[in-house]
Amino acid sequence: MSAAGAVGAVPAPSGRPVAAERLPLRPELVGVQPYGAPQLDVAVRLNVNENPYPPPPEVVSDVARSVAEAAAVLNRYPDREASQLRTALADYLGHGLGPEQVWAANGSNEVMLQVLQAFGGPGRTALSFTPTYSMYAEYARTTSTEWVVGQRRSDFGIDVEAARRLVHEHRPSVVLLASPNNPTGTALPLATVRALLEATRSAGGGVVVVDEAYAEFRRAGTPSALQLLGGEQRLLVTRTMSKAFAAAGVRLGYVATAPEVVDALRVVRLPYHLSAVTQAAATALLAHADTLLARVDDLRAERDRLAGWLVGLGLPVAESDANFCLFGGLPDRHAAWQGLLDRGVLVRETGPDGWLRVSVGTPAEMAAFRTALTGVLAAGSPGTRSDQTDRPDQTDPSVPLPAGLEAT
Ligand code: PMP
Repeated sequence: MSAAGAVGAVPAPSGRPVAAERLPLRPELVGVQPYGAPQLDVAVRLNVNENPYPPPPEVVSDVARSVAEAAAVLNRYPDREASQLRTALADYLGHGLGPEQVWAANGSNEVMLQVLQAFGGPGRTALSFTPTYSMYAEYARTTSTEWVVGQRRSDFGIDVEAARRLVHEHRPSVVLLASPNNPTGTALPLATVRALLEATRSAGGGVVVVDEAYAEFRRAGTPSALQLLGGEQRLLVTRTMSKAFAAAGVRLGYVATAPEVVDALRVVRLPYHLSAVTQAAATALLAHADTLLARVDDLRAERDRLAGWLVGLGLPVAESDANFCLFGGLPDRHAAWQGLLDRGVLVRETGPDGWLRVSVGTPAEMAAFRTALTGVLAAGSPGTRSDQTDRPDQTDPSVPLPAGLEAT
């Protein structure tokens, strides 16, 4: 059953922002829409960067067995330390990491919220570089942390000098760097991460989070910030099982960092935040890492084919190390998005104006996307254009993008 179908008889969200007249809502939440892409019942859904391949049957049976064992003792609270799972995650990551350097929560979203709870807060600042993952601003808002954004360059990389200046000006206690970035797919060179670690150190000592939600999809030769962890106390590398492990439904994210950082996150986590069912399912999935990651190779190849095809159409395409591509050249991107939806393909309207993001699906889904986009472009209105003149001003990194240009 589809996600939209699964909602069944429960009324859909009203779509109305919460008003303040009858509720003592925090002023900064008044009028705010809840986060989330539309969960539409469409044949080809390429809008939330899911893995299109469900876990194979032998993995499903192991997960079921593991969950059944956990179910037999559900009267008890779960292991608060998630020791077995954290050991399995550390083993998976390698780099000599031990369980004391790994922390897990309900999705990397929750991990990063905990990071802001521990290291952000009133009177403190978090910094990131747009266009990027739109939840970062929400973690900052929810934790009453001031939010500052720099602008990525026109190739969606980060200008190190401009970034250094921003760090020295705002002295953030948290810097959030998505690599590969969402919605652009851009991975950062390790030199950029090192430069930001150095800048935050000399500006007073913030932590730097490298959000590697899409790390397993990176191209050969693209490094992971895990390499920088040895002896680095203020670096946090977050990962998730939602993408490469085909387990978005499990809600399991994690971070590799210094044991002192794990101690700090433990202070802000809710008691027993990770259910026994989640721990059991995630641990069982990790035992099948090889099988699940074999599919990632197929998706990387499909991603490269997709990027090549889009380039062949004359459209600008962001370099991608992730399981999606951001492509532009669409004077009316909403019309293009709607045109694709009308042809049964749901993509994401995100990123700079004139660009759309498409997740990598199965070969059949990609064929459907190609047919649909060809139809949309042939129908005329959105037309192709190979320049990038609709990019917002890239020269001043302190100018935030207008609302709506963030990725989700
Ligand atoms: N980081 C990035 C860059 C993402 O795109 C996402 C999900 N779309 C997440 C983190 C959160 O993933 P999850 O909470 O499922 O681990």
